[in-house]
Amino acid sequence: MIGWREVGFQPHRKAYYPDTAFPLSMPETNQFECEGCGAHLEFDPKIQAMKCQFCQSEKIVPIEHKAIVEHDFYSAPKATGWDRQAASFQCDSCGATISADIRVAGKCTYCNSPYVKEKPPRPDLIRPETLIPFRVDKNNVNNLFKTWLGKGWFTPSNLVQLSRLDLIKGVYTPFWTYDTQAYSAWTAESGYYYYVTETYTAMVNGKSQIRTRQVRKIRWVPSHGQRQGFYNDVLVPASRGMNQELIYKIYPFDLRALVPYKPEFLSGFLAEEYAVDLQQGWGVAQSNVLASERDKCAKDVPGDTHRFLRVQTNFSGITYKHTLLPVWIAAYEYKAKTYHFLVNGQTGEVQGFKPISWAKVALFVGAVAAAVAGLAAFIYFS
Ligand SMILES: [Zn+2]
Ligand SMILES: [Zn+2]
Repeated sequence: MIGWREVGFQPHRKAYYPDTAFPLSMPETNQFECEGCGAHLEFDPKIQAMKCQFCQSEKIVPIEHKAIVEHDFYSAPKATGWDRQAASFQCDSCGATISADIRVAGKCTYCNSPYVKEKPPRPDLIRPETLIPFRVDKNNVNNLFKTWLGKGWFTPSNLVQLSRLDLIKGVYTPFWTYDTQAYSAWTAESGYYYYVTETYTAMVNGKSQIRTRQVRKIRWVPSHGQRQGFYNDVLVPASRGMNQELIYKIYPFDLRALVPYKPEFLSGFLAEEYAVDLQQGWGVAQSNVLASERDKCAKDVPGDTHRFLRVQTNFSGITYKHTLLPVWIAAYEYKAKTYHFLVNGQTGEVQGFKPISWAKVALFVGAVAAAVAGLAAFIYFS
């Protein structure tokens, strides 16, 4: 394997070379050797097994059917690294760190920045407990991409013909999942509607008349209550490089397909090291659970309406897992501009950005205006 300096790092970026020369950690030895020809075996989503690109030999990934363990949030995490012969590359621009056992250009997978430097693999990383292996392979991505491009009212007509895929990378993306028991106590004022008959004076033909009407009033009564609930696998992205807007759009992942982590599944793919740590991730999970508890308590409050809702939530039995989920990061070029999209590597859900045809928008607006004018004319003449 060849180190990154030989695969496209620009000489005039010399200032960004690390001060101390890291040993090139791209593996010299082959972690997953083909028994047929000695080449590097990679995980093939189509057969859900390892495959040799040269002699087509296949090898299954032995899965230990041990129960997937949830870890107590408050006990010290087991930080043992990823057990993977790979190099780590950190991007100075977006901060993402990618672990790779395949050749990568000297550019960031996420933001395309050339300010990428190699760093030694972190031995203090919490090893992923589980992962979902890629199901969608590169060819699938091509087809899904074309179908997705063809959709949409306002996309240019020649988008499918002129778009050129210029980046497809399979990245195991880091996530935390948290389980927790939540206990909430709430106080509020419940409002009950009642109606009173009011009299009022109306002026009719210059004369005043006494009339009556029904008016809604609210009787406020203090109320309180409590509830408890269990939250299972609250999913929090731990990626720094991934587009945060798009990542939520390719949800959901079916977490029933999680298998115990094995470095074999990562062979031939990139993997991002988590940039959101265990504590920060819990902060995100917690605020999601708090919002959900508040909604549920609001529904519990008796009466027709309520005000001054105060919710106090306590958590217990918090556990976590670190998991890697499969995402294809892709980009295409259309008229010299680059557009990014993501594909859920498990379900094939595509989400991304597309150019807008302003001509089509104008045509549509024009058609609507014509229709409105036509309708107005129709009403006028009929
Ligand atoms: Zn082989
Ligand atoms: Zn970057």
